[in-house]
Amino acid sequence: MNTQEIIAQFDKYVIANYGRLSRVIIRGQGSYIYDADGNEILDMFPGWAVSGIGHCHPKVVAAIVAQAKTLLHMDNTFYIEQQGQIAKLLSERAFGGKCFFCNSGAEANEAAMKLARLHTAKEKYKYITAFGSFHGRTFATVTATAQPKKHTGFLPLLAGFNYVPFNDIDALEKAFTDEVAAVMVEPIQGEGGINVASAEYMRAIRELCDKNQAVMILDEVQTGMGRTGKWFGYQHYDVEPDIITLAKALGGGVAVGAMMAKPEVAASLVPGTHASTFGGNPLVCAAAIAVVEAIEEEGLLENAETMGAYAVEKIEQLKQKHSIIDHVRSKGLMIGVQLKSAGAAIVSGCLENGLRINCTQETVLRFMPAMNVKKEEIDKAVEILDGVLAG
Ligand SMILES: *Cc1c(COP(=O)(O)O)cnc(C)c1O
Repeated sequence: MNTQEIIAQFDKYVIANYGRLSRVIIRGQGSYIYDADGNEILDMFPGWAVSGIGHCHPKVVAAIVAQAKTLLHMDNTFYIEQQGQIAKLLSERAFGGKCFFCNSGAEANEAAMKLARLHTAKEKYKYITAFGSFHGRTFATVTATAQPKKHTGFLPLLAGFNYVPFNDIDALEKAFTDEVAAVMVEPIQGEGGINVASAEYMRAIRELCDKNQAVMILDEVQTGMGRTGKWFGYQHYDVEPDIITLAKALGGGVAVGAMMAKPEVAASLVPGTHASTFGGNPLVCAAAIAVVEAIEEEGLLENAETMGAYAVEKIEQLKQKHSIIDHVRSKGLMIGVQLKSAGAAIVSGCLENGLRINCTQETVLRFMPAMNVKKEEIDKAVEILDGVLAG
């Protein structure tokens, strides 16, 4: 089938809940994707950060192929070595927590919110989340997502959610009552436009949660697995959360989510309280193990930091030439370019010229390249952006 035929088939049989770009992608390798018409596209937003170590990383592909030949799925009625192994690798790189596995970011956050309720006193059922957050699209997670436009058509939402401005300590203090079970924020808001939590804010969340016997949940679905230059976003701060949630880059391209909780908190998730049929199956765990190993063997945390700094420096240079750029916000390879006006036309202009980036919140260009991105690839991306901004 050619591009037109593939799109026509979609139009007829696939629900149109996404605004798709009219390209058909047939292959991906590293920082490049290829469309059905033979175009090569430099991908600076691979899989919305799912392909965190690039498309089809050979080590991940090899692990998947080997595992697929042995055991594809095994339900959680039994033990499998791979699930314990990836849990150990994650635990050793975070705060010694214990893991629950699921299949997506939203499910990881659902698990975290349910666990917070189980772990805290009976009267506690409320959650505090921040404006500009993104936590998923299921009913509880879209309720947690404090962006009114995402709530349209779904009122009334789940009870008990209280929204506060991000990085505002006073507002957080005022929102606390005896009924708050948990505070959930992203260390760096991704969808919200690369908004970095301040050190004081993170400390205040920790202190207020301790004082009020509430659970501190960090949604690390986007910040986790090394993109910021550390394994997890919270490691840029001097606080430890009670729970982190992961997904996106965890499986190197396969669907896997995880919730990690401090052992004393994790203990409240007893049999019968929560489950996932596909959660932590051998295939996705083998892929995730390969991701962790590849990040360490190839020094990708360091690369995320140095390439992130390099990309920001190059983009800052564009600021001198193009007045539409206001400023850049970033941590490692999570980069947001704040524009003074809408960015959608820039994104399509870049795609026409072989570069894929993203625009969020209308005026923030988002770059989240693979952690093994090369200097030449950043040079090329910035050159294409420069041309588009000039045009
Ligand atoms: C993408 C994302 C989610 C939702 O993940 P899904 O896998 O789409 O359910 C949740 N939180 C954050 C911070 C995200 O970036």
